[in-house]
Parts: sequence; structure tokens; C-alpha cells
Amino acid sequence: MGTRILDGLAIAAGIRSDVSQQLQQLPEWVGSPGLAVVLVGDNSASEIYVRNKVKACGELGIRSLLLRPVPTLTTDELLVIIDELNGRDDVDGILVQLPLPAQIDAKRVLEAIAPAKDVDGFHPVNVGRLHTGQECLSPCTPTGVLEILQRSRIPLTGAEAVVVGRSDIVGKPTSAMLLRANATVTTCHIHTVDLPKHTREADILVVAVGKPGLITAAMVKPGAVLIDVGINRITNREELERFFPGDAARAATFEKRGSVVMGDVDPAAYAVCGAYTPVPGGVGALTIAMLMHNTVKAARMRRGL
Ligand code: NAD
Repeated sequence: MGTRILDGLAIAAGIRSDVSQQLQQLPEWVGSPGLAVVLVGDNSASEIYVRNKVKACGELGIRSLLLRPVPTLTTDELLVIIDELNGRDDVDGILVQLPLPAQIDAKRVLEAIAPAKDVDGFHPVNVGRLHTGQECLSPCTPTGVLEILQRSRIPLTGAEAVVVGRSDIVGKPTSAMLLRANATVTTCHIHTVDLPKHTREADILVVAVGKPGLITAAMVKPGAVLIDVGINRITNREELERFFPGDAARAATFEKRGSVVMGDVDPAAYAVCGAYTPVPGGVGALTIAMLMHNTVKAARMRRGL
């Protein structure tokens, strides 16, 4: 049996089609769900993410409302905006694009979002509900990881799952969700003493670190499922040749754009594993589809459906 490529684009398309069906099945009195996106400052990556989120809403028939307050606004001024969105009946989901400018207290802002409208799943109430096995809005990227595993029929019950990375946005919630799905979960991080010892035990290895090629072939158990969340830009020709020897397509992209995107897994490890998510075209493709899913879920939950 050859190595399976877990195609994030195809899985995302399946999720979008499910979301579209759920939208059609909403009772007429609900109307079309609305997502408010708040973008502060002028981070070019954030601009692209927000544009893609608004576009995805339009394609599915979800109303979107883009708010761009002045970049110099204070935490208190942003809290007033959040409070107003919390109170609006035509807003089902509120997303504050991160990172926020340095003068803003991001924790206070995220905690001000009504948990029922917290489509990013970052509010402590949703985090607590996730950890205690209750119905909740859960973070988009980790939810996408679980969707990939479940839709690809990877057995989770009793599986040895190792998550590398413990951020509040990806690593920790991914560990919580795998635990909830009955896997035996180990979470590794920057202070883990012997990382290869842990990764070599993994039936399912999820990597969310942000270090290109951190996971080498020698660190992977034969037949394991590799889920690569990392998104890294390679701008160095020596690294390109080390990670992608003989890859004409990547070399051409590098010549054209001066960089290529890769994950945290060294592609040499693909020969050892049983299945893997490519970068690009893996986990990254799921995040916006899960945001759309959460927006419809928020609209339904808020109305007791
Ligand atoms: P982060 O910087 O907040 O966390 C990185 C984690 O990696 C930390 O918990 C740290 O302890 C751990 N770590 C660092 N070096 C390590 C090492 N040598 N060994 C073991 N652990 C180590 O990053 P994040 O926000 O969790 O994002 C991680 C990666 O995922 C990034 O590349 C980011 O771009 C990507 N990402 C992708 C998506 C998506 O696909 N949509 C979404 C979010 C993040």
C-alpha cells in the first residue's frame, strides 16, 4: 500500500458543501447568518486572511460585516465596538483578527466577546467547555485537524497521538480534541527533553510549531499519520535544495517568487509515514471552511436550534 495524501482542499470543499446545505435548512425566520470581522492595524498577512474570510462568506451566502477602526484605537474603544456587536441581533459571529496592535490588550478583548458569538473559540468559556466535553464553539484550525482525521477515517480511539506545540490557538486545543476523541495524547513543546523519543511513538503526529523541517524521517514511526499545521516561508536556496532535492515544480516557484511555502515536516519523512497532509493544500485549506461552519453553528445555537 502506498502513502496516502490527505487532501485538505478536497476535504474543505466537502465541508463547505455541508455548510451550504445547513444554510438551506435553516428555518426562514432565522434569516442568513451574519459574521462581523474586526481588523485593526495594517498587517499585510491579516489583510489577506480577512479578505479570504469575507470572500468565503459571500460565496456561501453568509452576511459579512467588515469593521476597520483606526489603527490607533485604545483597548477601551475596541471594547465599546465589541459590546455593540454583542448586542446586535443580526450578528451571529464576531471575529477579531489577530495579532492586534501592541497598545491593545488582546486578552481583555477576546474575553469581551459574547461566548455564544465567539466563532474563533478563544473565549475562556468555550475553552472550558471544550475541555469538559460540552457543546461549544471550538477553534477553527484544530477543528480542521480533527475533520481531516475523521473524514479520512483514521481511527482515533486508543491511538497514540502526539501533538508538537502547545499554543492556545493550535497545539492545546488540538490535544484537547484528540483526548475528547479517545486518543492517548502526549503534548510536546519547546522544553520537551527528548522530542524524537515521543514522536517515534505516535500513530498520529500533529505538528504545530513553525520550524521548517523540524520533524525528520528518523522521528516518524513507520505507517504513522502526519498532520502538518506549520506554515513556513523558505527564502534560502540552500534550504530549498535540502528539503526539496530534484523538485522541479518547487524550484520553478522559488525562481518566480523568491520563496516557497513548507510545513514543519521534512518531506523526506513522507516515505516513512502511512498518510500525510501536504503544505500547502493540507490543514491550511480547512481553517476558513471551519469558520463558516462555526458561524452557522453559532446562529443555530443562539436560537436554540
Ligand atoms: P506558536 O509560536 O504560538 O507556538 C509554537 C509552539 O511550538 C510553542 O508551544 C512551542 O513550545 C513549540 N516549539 C517551538 N520550538 C519547538 C521545538 N524545537 N520542539 C518542540 N516544540 C517547539 O505558534 P502557533 O500559533 O501554534 O502556530 C504554529 C504553526 O502553525 C506556525 O507555523 C503557524 O504559521 C501555523 N498555523 C497554521 C494555521 C493554519 O493552517 N490555518 C493556523 C495557525 C497557525
